[in-house]
Amino acid sequence: MERVHDQRLSPVQAFLDSLHAKYAPLTEGDVATYIPELANADPELFGICIATTDGFVYEVGHSRHEFTIQSISKPFVYGLALDDNGPDQMMTKVGVEPSGDAFNAISLHKVTGCPLNPMINAGAIATTGQIVADTPEQRIERIIGMFARYAGRPLQVDQAVYVSEHRTGHRNRAIGHLLRNFEVLTDEPTATVDTYFKQCAISMTCGDLALMGATLANQGINPLTGEQAIRSEHVENVLSVMASCGMYDFSGGWIYNVGMPAKSGVAGGVLAVLPGQLGIGVYSPRLDPQGNSVRALKVCEELSRAWELHQFNPPYCPQNSRRLTYTCAQRNSSRTRHSAERAWLRDEGNSIHVVELQGNLAFSTTEPIIREVVERVGRPRGVILDFHHVTSINGIASRLLVDLARDLRRDGTVVYLTHTHLLPMLRQQVISRLDDPLASETLFRFHSSDSALEQCEDDLLKDRAAPQSPAAAQQFRDYEISSGLSAEELAVFARLLTKETYNASDFIIRHGDEATSLFLITKGVVGVWLGTVGGDGRRMSSFSVGTMVGEMAFLDGVKRSANVVAEGDVECAVFQVADFVGLQASHPVIHTKILRNIGISLATRLRKLNQDVSILSTQRA
Ligand code: GLN
Repeated sequence: MERVHDQRLSPVQAFLDSLHAKYAPLTEGDVATYIPELANADPELFGICIATTDGFVYEVGHSRHEFTIQSISKPFVYGLALDDNGPDQMMTKVGVEPSGDAFNAISLHKVTGCPLNPMINAGAIATTGQIVADTPEQRIERIIGMFARYAGRPLQVDQAVYVSEHRTGHRNRAIGHLLRNFEVLTDEPTATVDTYFKQCAISMTCGDLALMGATLANQGINPLTGEQAIRSEHVENVLSVMASCGMYDFSGGWIYNVGMPAKSGVAGGVLAVLPGQLGIGVYSPRLDPQGNSVRALKVCEELSRAWELHQFNPPYCPQNSRRLTYTCAQRNSSRTRHSAERAWLRDEGNSIHVVELQGNLAFSTTEPIIREVVERVGRPRGVILDFHHVTSINGIASRLLVDLARDLRRDGTVVYLTHTHLLPMLRQQVISRLDDPLASETLFRFHSSDSALEQCEDDLLKDRAAPQSPAAAQQFRDYEISSGLSAEELAVFARLLTKETYNASDFIIRHGDEATSLFLITKGVVGVWLGTVGGDGRRMSSFSVGTMVGEMAFLDGVKRSANVVAEGDVECAVFQVADFVGLQASHPVIHTKILRNIGISLATRLRKLNQDVSILSTQRA
């Protein structure tokens, strides 16, 4: 079995080893003999396996020895019956109340004749009868196939054990006939009981059991194969009956001490599940009077205590999933803007909010986010919810966030949900809860919150009185590069510039080119890309009117380090390095002023980066 790993250095493994060593000498209890073949089991066999929800399996002892699943099959077949028929239909056949009787008791509800739960034999046989199939062969095939999905490998019926129980299982046959009498079973009962015998005789290891448990712990998805073994919504039904009835008459004491849904079988197997975290499989054939493996009980009790696994005292409370919030007044997009625009955003940007979410979004982690957004003073103009660091989102969290987005939109707020491409649940909720397809398109319009923020900034800047277009030579008065130049100096400078126009997607600068000029943007927006433009490259930043691009290589003469592309119609005034160098001799004052302005422009961008780093790293949810 490749999935079991050598973990000699791990303290987790060391603890399992010590548990195994501690309980191996325990020889209390007896191997089951009422199924004659089970009496042949070697009582000394003892294996322990733990499987995590990412599919890692720890093992110690006889972890690869095969034994028959017996009653541990019951919750899984119940899960298949739920998938086939739904919980309502199943409830008309089998209840979910602990019976207080032995597993093989002839225990049916006084009025309905229905078995009290699917973990006693009567309930299990009734459940097997609910598996949809045309023939008994097809039924057992479906059952074996279901177990194979949980275990992630093909499984077989142990013929010797099956035949042995088939020969001796009169009590179960009697139960089958009673179920037929009360019309819980509607077909000839012998075939169903026989299928039940086969399902009990499916052979597996405690490594398989652990992985099956991890699959239940993992919303029904086998963590190694990714296969859905049971519909996620039925996992809770299966684990609930395990919790209340899984350990026969010891179920109350078990959940009290161990705190995990579990199921045991007469062959000596025990499966325990810690929802969301672990599957545990233990095998040791000696049973106590209630029919539970003596060593397995000890191991599970001690594991639960030592590793603090009791489900009703979880080690952590869900954290608020807010990773970071800021307004556009505190932090801007990666667009480099003219100082006048930056000032405007600083003054007006309080109405644009970015909320970065993280982790697992469920009710308790999402509710504080909703509260926070709702409590924001004033009416926001824009809200960007960023899902980049979200690991998972469940139905209720999706619904709450989508409803919030819908209500904010109704109130006139622009809302963008970014980085949602790996969260199909959320996208689907948007489509089903917002009847207007256009509205859902807008919500998902931007992949990254940076682009969404850039758009919000552009919208905000539209409110600003448009600057009057300056006369030709005076045009550059307000540009970063020429700030502080006198009218005469401006005229000298402007004469050195040549005008270039570009269409959308035209390259202005290509990565690797010689750096011979810088570009003053006089119209439109240019994007700076690392790697292939538009393809798998990354748009690092952008520049708009009044700013300059290409000045880095312009200063140190190093080749161009990125691609710069026109986003729509763009006009630039191009300033050649040679002309800049020439100014040093002809107009040293202008040269110095320009040099200083380039320095200021770089310093401004560096300052923004520093501030970004500080905002992005200091906040805690
Ligand atoms: N096949 C066994 C029976 O029906 C299963 C019982 C059990 O594991 N508790 O008797």
